[in-house]
Amino acid sequence: MIGTARIRRLPQVVADAIAAGEVIERPASVVKELLENALDAGAGRVDVDIEGGGLVRVAVVDDGAGIAAEELELAVARHATSKIRATADLERAETLGFRGEALASIAAVSDLRIVSRTAGADAAALRVRNGEVVERVGAAAAVGTRVEVRDLFAATPARLRFLRAAATESAAAVRAAADLAITHPEVRVTCRSDGRVALRSPGGGLRDALQAVLGARAARDLVDVDSPGAISVWGAISAPHAHRGTRAGMVLAVNSRRVHNRSLLAAVGEAYRGLIPAGRHPFGAVLVEIDPVMVDINVHPAKREVRFRDERAVFASVQRACWAVLREAPLAGVADAGWSATSVAGAKGVIGVRDEGAGTGVDPAFGDPLVASRDTPQPGTVKLADLKPLRAVGQAGGTWLIAEAPGVLVVVDPHAAHEKVVYTELIDGWAAPAGVQTSQLLLVPEVVECGAGLLERLEAHADFVARCGFQLEVFGPGAIRCSAVPAAARDAEPARLVADLLDALDGDAGGGEPGRRHRIAALIACHAAVRFGDRIALEQQQRLLDRLVETPGGMTCPHGRPTVMLLEDTVLRRSFRRT
Ligand code: ADP
Ligand code: MG
Repeated sequence: MIGTARIRRLPQVVADAIAAGEVIERPASVVKELLENALDAGAGRVDVDIEGGGLVRVAVVDDGAGIAAEELELAVARHATSKIRATADLERAETLGFRGEALASIAAVSDLRIVSRTAGADAAALRVRNGEVVERVGAAAAVGTRVEVRDLFAATPARLRFLRAAATESAAAVRAAADLAITHPEVRVTCRSDGRVALRSPGGGLRDALQAVLGARAARDLVDVDSPGAISVWGAISAPHAHRGTRAGMVLAVNSRRVHNRSLLAAVGEAYRGLIPAGRHPFGAVLVEIDPVMVDINVHPAKREVRFRDERAVFASVQRACWAVLREAPLAGVADAGWSATSVAGAKGVIGVRDEGAGTGVDPAFGDPLVASRDTPQPGTVKLADLKPLRAVGQAGGTWLIAEAPGVLVVVDPHAAHEKVVYTELIDGWAAPAGVQTSQLLLVPEVVECGAGLLERLEAHADFVARCGFQLEVFGPGAIRCSAVPAAARDAEPARLVADLLDALDGDAGGGEPGRRHRIAALIACHAAVRFGDRIALEQQQRLLDRLVETPGGMTCPHGRPTVMLLEDTVLRRSFRRT
């Protein structure tokens, strides 16, 4: 410990470098801040150029309003901003920036050149190196601003050491540009890394920006979210049959600013519960518009996090808005499942070969006017409810159900379909005011052995277990007796069902109360459902199909597997070369 050192004020350059570290963590922060400035200046087009992961050079050129020549020095000074004037303005700031720190922070840790011109004035340029203005000159340029940042962190080796490989930094920087392209789809954003175009968002609607970022194939799997209101929620999110291995494909934004907020993410996740497999994640963008007074964006140096005054209300709005579209999202066609893409690849005129690459390019066979009649639904647009009346044709190979609806053959996984129907009835039942499931008394009560720990857990959840429709009681040490099971599971093996129930109650798999309800309902439904391979009479097939088409979110089972696959007439005709 150095206990006797004197306290001194730090020289301004040192203080600035420390402050800069809060805002500028890595090259991606530079891209984010410069792009935000361009957007705040009303740019319609921004070009970002990254070299060497952004450590060699980051250049951002915009066609925004520009900076007046006499204000250039002020622009790079700390706490100098044109966006707010008083503390009160902090509450209502509608610009992306407002702290007047970004340019100063970047200039403190790099070699920065800025050239800018406002309408009807001459351009001016300024060069600042590690916080010191080194040059001020006149220049020629179009209206707008060009900021070039070289040798980032060259004077702060400690920061440099914490950076990753150039490729990783470059990817993060492109990601930052992609975030802004998604939250401001109307702006044309191009991003190059070492000369290669990494992103080209055309400046159009949200779908265009998402297609540029996620790729054409992924963009086709999106469904639109649109819930206006005091807390308005809109965007486009993946249909249940499409999902990814990471969370990185989902952009959440509040008032056009990308945010990382657990509650928002959880709300989206909740909407997908029982629709996609555990460990898989949706992609797309969910954009929340809310009165700025209801949200505090001033809680993180890089404004990555936000705080809501009424977090529950925002959570509920987001969850509701997403579920509203997911519950009736389009079904996967067989072409979507990927096998026709391999079996017919290269066959001219055959639908089903879909563009898997990023960016542009649509399968030319897709819109062939010879075959696609106007009233035949296109792949990816048919919803479960559109299949009504769905007529049972029979069971193929003792497993799949074959059914038909106008213009489409439907293949159904009977176990998955039955599971989802029962699951949904259980969840809805618990949500109802009475909230108790009907029970089926067992003729012969079943005794199930279990450890002391499980007995305790059972006691702790006794209420919920009873509401499920179970009648369980402790039956001597290490055993319980089951005298009734949920009516839906009357045909299940009670001993196995109860053993699985006890396991599910054991430990916390997360998600709180809704998570537990989901797991228990999925478990009961799995035991209650017909098994894959069970023979099913035609009337029973029809009953199952009738219930399935009425089930919200019925396109996947509670574990996220598809319940139905469409073999569209258009697809079949193309495959059989029948025009
Ligand atoms: P902030 O964005 O928080 O105001 P910055 O340090 O990022 O702080 O920018 C300081 C000021 O410089 C801004 O308020 C704005 O007036 C001006 N400015 C920065 N970049 C641009 C740009 N690309 N176009 C027009 N003005 C800009
Ligand atoms: Mg700014």
